[in-house]
Amino acid sequence: MSILVTGGTGYIGSHTALKLLERGERVVLLDNFSNSGPDVLTRMEEIAGCALRFYRGDILCADTLSEIFRTEDVEGVVHFAGLKAVGESVQKPLEYYRNNVAGTLNLLEVIGRFGVKNFVFSSSATVYGSRSVAPYREDMPAGGCTNPYGQTKYIIELMLQDLYASDDSYNITALRYFNPIGAHPSGKIGESPSGVPNNLMPYITQVAAGKLPELRVFGADYDTPDGTCIRDYIHVEDLAEGHVLALRNQRGFNIYNLGTGTGTSVLGLVSAFEEATDVKIPYRIADRRPGDVQTSFAAVTKAREELGFLARFDVRRMCEDSWRWERYANGHA
Ligand code: NAD
Ligand code: UDP
Repeated sequence: MSILVTGGTGYIGSHTALKLLERGERVVLLDNFSNSGPDVLTRMEEIAGCALRFYRGDILCADTLSEIFRTEDVEGVVHFAGLKAVGESVQKPLEYYRNNVAGTLNLLEVIGRFGVKNFVFSSSATVYGSRSVAPYREDMPAGGCTNPYGQTKYIIELMLQDLYASDDSYNITALRYFNPIGAHPSGKIGESPSGVPNNLMPYITQVAAGKLPELRVFGADYDTPDGTCIRDYIHVEDLAEGHVLALRNQRGFNIYNLGTGTGTSVLGLVSAFEEATDVKIPYRIADRRPGDVQTSFAAVTKAREELGFLARFDVRRMCEDSWRWERYANGHA
């Protein structure tokens, strides 16, 4: 029996697929390469030391999905495929609703036809919006997101909840990721943003590599100890382990945070990076970025008690691994 990993050559999907393999699972990958490429698959195979089952295709195509379920013995799906750029989702909302919401709907319909009952979904801490105060607990109100990307995640959560309410033979888990950073310890796979990065860590590593002149720190007048926003950064390897545990402990419909429970400020991450790598990050304080919440970090009790999930890697290690990946990617660009 295999686990189908959609978005399997993307940043989180590639790490999770390798982790599942490491833990003795068989995996089948699906990706349309809209935000990754065949080179990632090659490097994943180098790390795994074996060929991987891979389909190039789109979750929007029912024929492709049916072919996979007819050919492979799939017992569960971990669903990463989706578009994820917050700013772009404001410019192109319909692309986001089509790809993320309609794509997931299509996938769920095909899964239903083939009787596959185990489903794990990549949700996001962004669904907490600005109504609740950190630490965010899974039972706090969600929704009311400030951008179409966040809305798609929330709509999909509702869709999954309704599906389970209609048929409780499903096992459905929505994982709300906090801020995944870091890379595989081999340095061979990691996050590859196209164009200028929007997220903090890839921006820092590109400044460190000399590809960008300086970091703009979006706001230093927040009500936090150093005035900059606080986020819960989690190593992508820990996140990957969270998916293994989620799959092994599926029972009914559940939502779990995947975070460390510890907040780090923007300037805190800059210092941690400088200490871990010995590379100076020039920065200047800029205006606040519209839509940013001041403080976001996870309540981790539910994932710890019900999944046995505990993040292992600290921010220093996240910085070291992100930097190793940035240097590898530059050497192989
Ligand atoms: P990613 O862009 O690196 O990976 C997504 C992969 O899905 C890409 O390889 C892309 O080519 C593929 N894809 C996109 N649309 C597809 C489609 N229609 N059919 C087939 N493949 C498709 O992103 P990621 O950082 O690995 O994120 C994975 C999931 O986790 C996404 O759903 C994202 O919204 C969610 N998430 C990410 C973060 C984060 O900070 N990275 C945080 C919270 C949630
Ligand atoms: N940030 C920043 N400069 C950048 C990118 C991000 O100061 O070039 C800040 C951003 O305002 C936020 C934090 O870093 O406070 C994390 O941003 P990211 O986009 O990585 O995550 P998110 O805000 O989506 O949680």
